[in-house]
Amino acid sequence: MSALGPNATIGIIGGGQLGRMLAMAAARLGYRTVILEPEADCPAAQVANRHIAAAYDDPAALSELAELADVVTYEFENVPVEAVLGLAPRVGVWPPPLTLEVAQDRLSEKTFLNKAGISTAPYKTVDNDADLEAALAAFGGSGVLKTRRLGYDGKGQRMFRDAPREAVAGTFAEMGSVPLILEGLIDFECEISVVAARDAAGSIQAYDPAQNIHRDGILRRSTVPAGISQATAGKARAAAAALLDALGYVGVIGVEFFVLADGSVLANEIAPRVHNSGHWTEAACAVSQFEQHIRAIAGLPLGDPARHCDCVMENLIGDDVSGVERLAGEPGVVLHLYGKKDARPGRKMGHFTRISAKAR
Ligand code: AMP
Repeated sequence: MSALGPNATIGIIGGGQLGRMLAMAAARLGYRTVILEPEADCPAAQVANRHIAAAYDDPAALSELAELADVVTYEFENVPVEAVLGLAPRVGVWPPPLTLEVAQDRLSEKTFLNKAGISTAPYKTVDNDADLEAALAAFGGSGVLKTRRLGYDGKGQRMFRDAPREAVAGTFAEMGSVPLILEGLIDFECEISVVAARDAAGSIQAYDPAQNIHRDGILRRSTVPAGISQATAGKARAAAAALLDALGYVGVIGVEFFVLADGSVLANEIAPRVHNSGHWTEAACAVSQFEQHIRAIAGLPLGDPARHCDCVMENLIGDDVSGVERLAGEPGVVLHLYGKKDARPGRKMGHFTRISAKAR
């Protein structure tokens, strides 16, 4: 894959904050961007060269995108697969569309991970209350029930702990009568993620694992370095690398893991895109995850993922954003706001990374 020349155009499907940060990184490398996103004045379009305001599966809009862009990528995993498959013969699309198929369904995600030799929580499919009862019995009465598709930020999930039989009745309907999966309840020490990149020639670079705290299913804080051993970090990196190879991946991926008491890791979720738990890289690394993704899809060499300082990244969610003036005045704080007007509850408005001298 020869590198895109100066002024080439990168198409981004999705106009949220991840698209915004990708567009900013693309601009730093001299590229132009065009965003496909139905929402007017979206965060990505505010910093891009062009905005096609249409549905992600609008045929005319996709044709326009293929016409304008030299390569296309996406910033969220629920892009309609057919839309991307339709684009692929006309313009390069990275990461490969196969990744979307794998990541959009928790069953195919787990099956793929296990086939690639990567351990996950045990799971069973659930398509009615009787399935749920049997699956819970198999997992000792506890588990996490999740919708197979369209779940994000903890939405579409229900936790069972030592659930009595009557707790099951009506659950399938309450979850929307859609295909579900029950995972065994994992007693984890902590949650970590690895953000890694692969280029078309197969080179892989991974950032240091981040330790993540979620609240209400939404990422609140990522701390780097994570409080894990080198051996555990190595296992997580190796799993991410094996996954990238198995997918024939090009671009940045985020892989979330549970860390168990014995130091082993179980993959929980993959995100075929830049990842919220990798935002710290813009403050602590010479090449951020956003630039790394643009490099990979543009055919440039991958950048150095070395970390130059310790850091803690926190999301600004909803009203948190009212504290930005204080944060902006604090030494060692790298602030990033997404240009969203309304601070609705649960809405990611921005993030900040507090950097400090590297201890290890
Ligand atoms: P997910 O949407 O799969 O990332 O799940 C959201 C959060 O729920 C995770 O970050 C965990 O904190 C928790 N969780 C999800 N699956 C499990 C599981 N199988 N066992 C224990 N906790 C889980």
